[in-house]
Amino acid sequence: AKHRGRNKYVIFNTDVKEKISKEYTIKTMLQKAIENEEFELFYQPKLDRNKRVVGCEALIRWIKDGKVVPPGEFIPVAEKSGLIYEIGKWVIEESAKRVQEWESDEILKEISLAFNVSVVQMRREGFLNDVRNIISKIKPNVSNLEIEITESVFIENKQRALHLLELLKRMGFKINLDDFGTGYSSISVLKEFKIDILKIDKSFVDEVLSKEGRVYVKTIIDMSKNLNLLTVAEGVEYQEQFEVLKELGVDYFQGYLFAKPLKKEEFEEFVKKLNTS
Ligand code: C2E
Ligand code: CA
Ligand code: CA
Ligand code: CA
Repeated sequence: AKHRGRNKYVIFNTDVKEKISKEYTIKTMLQKAIENEEFELFYQPKLDRNKRVVGCEALIRWIKDGKVVPPGEFIPVAEKSGLIYEIGKWVIEESAKRVQEWESDEILKEISLAFNVSVVQMRREGFLNDVRNIISKIKPNVSNLEIEITESVFIENKQRALHLLELLKRMGFKINLDDFGTGYSSISVLKEFKIDILKIDKSFVDEVLSKEGRVYVKTIIDMSKNLNLLTVAEGVEYQEQFEVLKELGVDYFQGYLFAKPLKKEEFEEFVKKLNTS
């Protein structure tokens, strides 16, 4: 078995023989996790060129026996088993609550919150209705909420995806296209789907200090500007990357250079520190 060295992988190793029963085990544990409310949202700051916090990305964590399990270890199983639907609904509700809560604070009310939505989740018939119900129950300022989708939503049923995004936009959500450059998106897709914000994938940020990598990012940014899209660079880890990305015209920045995903209270403190000085 691989990765036996590190504790967390003992439960989640990927040997083919054990895969099915393993998935079954995780699925059962996830089901319990939903009931016991073991999920938590962490918030990673999104900064502008002047290092003011303009928003955050909500990232889910599973707190299992006091240990933090990252989403890469359970979201795929949740997607396969359909449990992503319940988990995803919780994410939307929690995100809406946060934005609603922040409205009564002079500084935090300016902060937007982007949450991730899985294709599997959007595929469900009742998705839009659930979003509507959550919004009408919690009544957040929807213009401070952003939905992060990946290019894969366009592959399955384009007409339906188009319709869905149109309705979400009408409700006030902004649409982020996540992991841009790793899939198959074409310029026509960006226009047709009325994307607001394009997230440049970390793999491009990783290469931006090389001559070739710089050309790629420049191309993406020039295209975004022509289409009136805002850009976010994700996975910014070094000051040099930040400098070059700024020079190339990126609007917003997210990455360990500024902060890791933070607990709610830590995030709120972080915002107050950076946005009041
Ligand atoms: P993503 O949407 O591309 O999220 C960005 C990931 O990059 C996050 O990992 C974040 O912690 C990490 N990251 C941010 N800055 C840096 C950096 O400077 N360096 C490095 N090495 N990594 C950085 P995380 O939180 O483990 O999430 C992984 C993926 O799990 C996400 O990728 C997203 O696809 C999925 N995910 C997370 N939360 C949710 C959720 O609530 N619902 C759904 N459906 N998927 C989620
Ligand atoms: Ca994301
Ligand atoms: Ca991303
Ligand atoms: Ca990514």
